[in-house]
Amino acid sequence: MPTTHEVDAVVIGAGFSGLYSLYALRKEGFSTVVLEAGSGIGGTWYHNRYPGARCDIESLDYSYSFDEDLQQEWRWSEKFASQPEILAYIDHVAERFDLRKDVRLDTRVVSAVWDEDAAKWTVTTEAGDRYVGQFVVAATGVLNARQVPRFDGLDDFEGEWYHTADWPREGVEFAGKRVIVVGTGSSGTQIIPIVAAQADHLTVLQRTPNFTMPTGNAPYTEEMLAEWKADYAAKRRNARASNNGHNQIVNDKYGVDVSDEERAAEFEKRWNLGGHYMLRAFRDILVDEDVNNAAADWVRAKIASIVEDPETAAKLMPRMYLGTKRLCTGTNYYETYNRPNVDLIDVKANPIVRLVAEGIELADGTVVPADIIVFATGFDAMTGSLSRIDVRGRGGRELKEHWKGGPLTYVGLGVSGFPNFFVMSGPGSPSVTSNMVTSGELHVEWVRDALVYLREHGYAVIEATPEAEAAWVEHVADVASRTLYAKNTNSWFYGANTPGKAIVFQPYLGGVGPYGKRLQQIAAEGYPGFTLTRVRETVG
Ligand code: NAP
Repeated sequence: MPTTHEVDAVVIGAGFSGLYSLYALRKEGFSTVVLEAGSGIGGTWYHNRYPGARCDIESLDYSYSFDEDLQQEWRWSEKFASQPEILAYIDHVAERFDLRKDVRLDTRVVSAVWDEDAAKWTVTTEAGDRYVGQFVVAATGVLNARQVPRFDGLDDFEGEWYHTADWPREGVEFAGKRVIVVGTGSSGTQIIPIVAAQADHLTVLQRTPNFTMPTGNAPYTEEMLAEWKADYAAKRRNARASNNGHNQIVNDKYGVDVSDEERAAEFEKRWNLGGHYMLRAFRDILVDEDVNNAAADWVRAKIASIVEDPETAAKLMPRMYLGTKRLCTGTNYYETYNRPNVDLIDVKANPIVRLVAEGIELADGTVVPADIIVFATGFDAMTGSLSRIDVRGRGGRELKEHWKGGPLTYVGLGVSGFPNFFVMSGPGSPSVTSNMVTSGELHVEWVRDALVYLREHGYAVIEATPEAEAAWVEHVADVASRTLYAKNTNSWFYGANTPGKAIVFQPYLGGVGPYGKRLQQIAAEGYPGFTLTRVRETVG
């Protein structure tokens, strides 16, 4: 029998933001439930268990800051933690703060409907259970609506196939198998070296080469941990004040001001540091074409120096501005193409036509044989998870409809016409261009403080105004337009990888520091840009 539950806040999603929402709201006395579609907590880190899955932000940064004892006591083993270690951390946090009792697993939300008269949301699950709450926190994640391209013949393929973001818990046996990996984004570049080392043969089907940096991983030594933990609070303050929400070594110089030699030395240093450090090489690397081209040329030369076969090396060289598709990281990624059991096929030149019983057929009639196909083909990013839920605000307006021309938010948190509905780490906020844990914490704390403010001042409803929303959306677009991202709209940042989606730059590039200040200012000034109303004003 379907059941109905009354709570103050319904949180959708038990990833980093959802779990912290539960912790923070519960602490302030709001009854809170978290509804999670997966069979375990962890969100992204629960589902993306493909071999090689690893964070590309340093573990000491990519972790909760809200509890000093937690951050002092947890010991990260590596600079860039693997998926199992991150999931173990999330499990630890859930146990430590007794979060699980208010998380409902295997509970997929199908709709969230605003009831004008009651001034409450009704959130309905696939099983028909209803959760009625004053507030909804949509912590649904931005990279989890996975996409398997609609290839003809998917059912004809007689082998096994998997998407990286829906990896079997028991793992996949590659030994002795012929494997195809489709896709060379962040997931592809992490899994490819591992499959290559295990499988009999690997064929990589690459449509667009992307820039892949070395991971730069290493075990943390006791000295490194002690140094960081000696004043963890300062590290956290620094992360929140920074552009990308973590303690990266940022070069304050502009690439236009320095010699070619100095640029090259900086690129070399950044390559050796690994991951996203390359994007902090110069302040203008994502703005100035010459500086960016210099970096891109430098990486292309690096690829040529690593990959022995010049034809393969040429295929691997990206022809776009560095970083305008999200930079990838991989351990021995380019070196993998020197292995005798690895082939690379350019499927832009020779596109995939269909799957057949034995493998994948290409436009020239070749069939690439496979026992296993891995789709590392990405997500309907930023809005995909929310658009799969039937969210209806005032007057039954659909969120999907409201966002048809691109996501509309005020400071990434509120949506006009959708009262008491908060979007966590989504479009219009630094989100995927930043450390998602830092940015998620900013959001959760802002929502917590807003709810306390409403309660203390006798308000029942908070809602972004259409004017504030429009101005913010314009600002988000304006900031993006002044960067090189605007010269490469073929990325999931713009929604370009999802058929039918509006081409709009989705995250906010203004920087975590200034963005956080803006959120603080809004709270301090009594929430300008939002309308606050008391119940009697909203009930007819
Ligand atoms: P992605 O970046 O969207 O990459 C998808 C890949 O699949 C691209 O190479 C794409 O080619 C290719 N592809 C898609 N459809 C195809 C088709 N029909 N035929 C051939 N190729 C096709 O997805 P992702 O690698 O899963 O990464 C998504 C995001 O998740 C990352 O950008 C990152 O933010 C996050 N992530 C982070 C980490 C990490 O922290 N290290 C790891 C994994 C994921 P095109 O480029 O031509 O579209």
